[in-house]
Amino acid sequence: MRRGLAAVLMCGAVATPTLVTGSAESAVRACASGQVALTFDDGPSPSVTPKLLDALSSRRVPATFFVVGQRVAAAPGIVRDASRRGFSIANHTYRHEQLTRLGDDQVRGTLRMTRQAIKNAGAPPSSLMRPPYGLIDARVRGLVAQVGLTPVLWDIDPQDWRRRSSSEITSRVLGALRRNTSNVVLLHDGVGNSPNTLAAVPGIIRGARARGYCFTELNDAGKPGRVVPVVRVGDTRVVEGDEGDRHRLAFTLTLDRPTSRRTSVRVRTVDRSAVAGQDYAAVDRVVRFPAGSSRQVVPVRIRGDALDEINERLVLRLSEPAGLRLPDKVAVGTIRDDDEAPGLRLADADIVEPLAGSAQVSVVLTLNRPSGRWVRVSVATADGTAGESDYTPLQRTVWLPPGATAREIPLAVLADTEPESVEYFTLQVTSSRNVALLRGSATISIQPPLASPPE
Ligand code: ZN
Repeated sequence: MRRGLAAVLMCGAVATPTLVTGSAESAVRACASGQVALTFDDGPSPSVTPKLLDALSSRRVPATFFVVGQRVAAAPGIVRDASRRGFSIANHTYRHEQLTRLGDDQVRGTLRMTRQAIKNAGAPPSSLMRPPYGLIDARVRGLVAQVGLTPVLWDIDPQDWRRRSSSEITSRVLGALRRNTSNVVLLHDGVGNSPNTLAAVPGIIRGARARGYCFTELNDAGKPGRVVPVVRVGDTRVVEGDEGDRHRLAFTLTLDRPTSRRTSVRVRTVDRSAVAGQDYAAVDRVVRFPAGSSRQVVPVRIRGDALDEINERLVLRLSEPAGLRLPDKVAVGTIRDDDEAPGLRLADADIVEPLAGSAQVSVVLTLNRPSGRWVRVSVATADGTAGESDYTPLQRTVWLPPGATAREIPLAVLADTEPESVEYFTLQVTSSRNVALLRGSATISIQPPLASPPE
């Protein structure tokens, strides 16, 4: 790595310092002199990186690790741990190649393989990359952009990969800090002299803070700045179930990158068709993301029942973001009903024919259990042996409100002058909604009049 790393020297001189553009709004007092972003290249290294993570974490200093893909594949646990502790994991190619010497496909390939290795390790990859040795030209820039990455070089290079002592590294970094400019510091955690870099870190942090500098991350443009993760919440659904509080709606809150500090957002449920206390247990609380986390689940307990119901909805509303951006403020939770529609039966009816005028008979329509929905049933009479002279034809639609299980449908039977035996007509269901037909036809029997005149 020696030969290539010498090129770092050359490129370190080329990198032009850029002005910090007002990203430190609230941190002005603590960062009176400006911001410093530490970056560590060529790791992860099993002997140095874990100790470095401890040294940075205990001092609450963020950092970006430009990792080499094949080393990530060899030590994925270190990368996962770094990410969980809030450090940013960025792309430094798969085999530390000189990108300007590679063909187009190879450039894209090495960057994509590295991104995949980071993902495989369980860390969300940053959108930043650093070309090994700082070697980049217009063609490589175009390819890097095609892969969706932004190249980052550096402002301060203490050449920590040379055989320098820790105190030498510390004084080179502190001596190169410039007030109110971009101070991106290039360090290494994956080269031979990295134990000395590790030993230099506490002095760099102490010295920079004493000079009025504070430590920040790299923003999406690769400049020192506060990175504010975006929080999103997705819609969710659950099947209602019958047994009390067993079921939950699980709203998942995700950040587009892990936090480097504690952040939080308030969540509360809002009724739509579902009603708090009746259909679900209301939630109103603050969800915190510890440093390094990027996912939290907010469970909402659902009360199950055995009623056939329409799908019910509630909303989870996010507010009061702290250290987060909040583009979408609500998500919808749908409680899908899993209860079958009740069964409908029409019961047969009997009536004695009146001697004069008309008499009323009722057909009873029953549901085998209550429903949570309105049930609609359309019925119509049809002639049997009885015809229009024997009863008044009927065509009708009835509605049963939620919870109702029976309904009577009155029919008029007419007096008849002719001597008769038993006659009948039927009442039939012609259409229905939210109900299953168990018996969709009733027979109405008309008995001859009791006081029928003797023959
Ligand atoms: Zn490197």
